[in-house]
Amino acid sequence: MSPSWKNIRADFPALHQQVNGKPLVYLDNAATSQKPQCVIDTLTRYYTQDNANIHRGIHALSIRATDAYEKARKRALKFLNAASPADIVFTAGTTDSVNLVANSWGNENLKENDVILLTEMEHHSNLVPWQLLAKRTGAKLRFLPVVPGDTGLLDLTKLSKVLTPEVRIFAFTHVSNTLGVINPAAELCAAARKVGALTLVDAAQSAGHIPLDVQQLGCDFFVLSGHKMCGPTGIGVLYGRAPHLDKMPPYRGGGSMIKSVSYFESQWAPSPAKFEAGTPNIADAIALARAMDYLDSLGREAIAQHDKKLAALAYVRIMTEIPGIRILGPAQHRSSVLSFVIPGAHAHDVVTLADQDGIALRGGHHCNQPLMRKLGLTSTSRASFYFYNTEEEVERFILSLKRIQKFFPLWCQANTPPDA
Ligand code: PLP
Repeated sequence: MSPSWKNIRADFPALHQQVNGKPLVYLDNAATSQKPQCVIDTLTRYYTQDNANIHRGIHALSIRATDAYEKARKRALKFLNAASPADIVFTAGTTDSVNLVANSWGNENLKENDVILLTEMEHHSNLVPWQLLAKRTGAKLRFLPVVPGDTGLLDLTKLSKVLTPEVRIFAFTHVSNTLGVINPAAELCAAARKVGALTLVDAAQSAGHIPLDVQQLGCDFFVLSGHKMCGPTGIGVLYGRAPHLDKMPPYRGGGSMIKSVSYFESQWAPSPAKFEAGTPNIADAIALARAMDYLDSLGREAIAQHDKKLAALAYVRIMTEIPGIRILGPAQHRSSVLSFVIPGAHAHDVVTLADQDGIALRGGHHCNQPLMRKLGLTSTSRASFYFYNTEEEVERFILSLKRIQKFFPLWCQANTPPDA
């Protein structure tokens, strides 16, 4: 049975406020999600009762904190259906996880003329670390194109052309933060496996939104950010398949990640400790585990259906009631992200005007500059929904867009289709 989405709003204190004299409609979930009270309480409880450094302590607080931190790792394992706690590395987020793989696996395994395959829709987080790696090693970057036009789909007809045996790793986003498209991750991983390439799935926009199973996906690495799925900022997960993590050298050196240290050299602890140098983000890892409990109590399939319903409703209403607005991304295979352009209006103006109506949108290049250029744009406005958004909020969003459209009357007259 589907949860009562309206009652769920009571769990999110930040949703119950006025912005510019209007009840807040928070549609910036692709940037970061709001936090339920249980996650906030977990942080407070940790800092008021258990706060201690972990792993090295023998006193009660340290034992409690260590247990909670390692339980959080097991919770993340269950959330992703990974095989072993050693496959789950806590990081600072998606960006940090990609940098870890690009530096640790990449430095060790890539050489001149090897190919790093990405797609044309990658967030800068899943592009710049690979550019740096290519510069260091002489490897080449290659891109699976997006179909020309606004559908936002990957051009799978080009996959066999770009996925050649020189490709050592194929790193791609599961859900695009600009186009909203859900990419066929399992299919892409299977194709990469056939040519002997590893895969990294950027799940920043899919974790916490759609059901996930890393074993079913068949990926080698899988990365996510806690703050986009009801958890705190500054915490994320890198899942890696054991044979890779076992062979990878540490990315950072320091305390906690060693077996033994002498003045001139050290030996590493096994994964995950090898990749978690220094005092980790204990409280936020524990709170992320609480967020995972919370999401699973709602049901990830139910969340996906609710998100999809709201994005589809907004899509249809814009298409039918506000002629001329250009929506990016597909009608099908769309998650909860809806990017749009009002020609002649800068996205920042659209977002500022929406803010006057109490509606939080995002405008800009969304850390997707190359994709923007390909689409002939400098920016888009973006509404991104989550399970605590409602149909009434979609209505407020549509009314606000209609009001905003009136600020650009010349453009509207010039672009209203004859049958509108
Ligand atoms: N990848 C995608 C698709 C994203 O949308 C984002 C953030 O918006 C990131 C990576 C980077 O996430 P973080 O800034 O949490 O590291």
